[in-house]
Amino acid sequence: MHIVDKLYLFIILATILPIRPYFYNIQTQKHDIITSLSVISEQSLAHFDQNERFKTYLKHVEISDLDQKVQELNHEVSTIIDCQQCGNCCKTLMIVVTDEEADRVSIGLEKSRTAFDLQYLEKGSNGLMLMNSMPCSFLNDNSCTIYENRFEGCREFPALHLPDFNKRLFAHFMHYGRCPIIFNVIERLKIELNFENCNESR
Ligand code: SF4
Ligand code: SF4
Repeated sequence: MHIVDKLYLFIILATILPIRPYFYNIQTQKHDIITSLSVISEQSLAHFDQNERFKTYLKHVEISDLDQKVQELNHEVSTIIDCQQCGNCCKTLMIVVTDEEADRVSIGLEKSRTAFDLQYLEKGSNGLMLMNSMPCSFLNDNSCTIYENRFEGCREFPALHLPDFNKRLFAHFMHYGRCPIIFNVIERLKIELNFENCNESR
């Protein structure tokens, strides 16, 4: 390699190498957020027993205090996590569809209800209608193609903004290993409530 080329290579590497790890460290320390779906899934198995104890613990926390904390944490975490980078709920959840929602979406797609139902829905014997594919047929490149008309369940998920958090513990913990927002809110909630220390002293 020519001496001038070597010099340029050195300048480029000297500029890039010290900055990259430093930059990533700062990001991690600042937000301390886990977004890797594989890490979250692994940690969900590792935390199973602890989460069972935490669910019991949460049932005894005053509802309005708990709701306030969860909603604050939800705001904090969901402004950092980009759902379009994730899309895991749209890839892994069974979506329940009501009659009105099916009407609305089929009109938006300019399809007859019959054609819409045939293409997208599965009807159980109990009359419950579900989307018939997973990932959801309306997910494209991690974006919802019917966003304005999306179903109520999609609008609400992960539902951490709603009151009565501790009356929906089963559902939230069921999605703990799937949804980075739920995972990080619950992990932060453990710290906020000093759960580990309380739990160890029992
Ligand atoms: S309708 Fe849209 S938001 Fe709902 S699961 Fe499908 S892609 Fe996701
Ligand atoms: S709500 Fe949760 S699972 Fe769905 S895209 Fe956002 S972070 Fe991912």
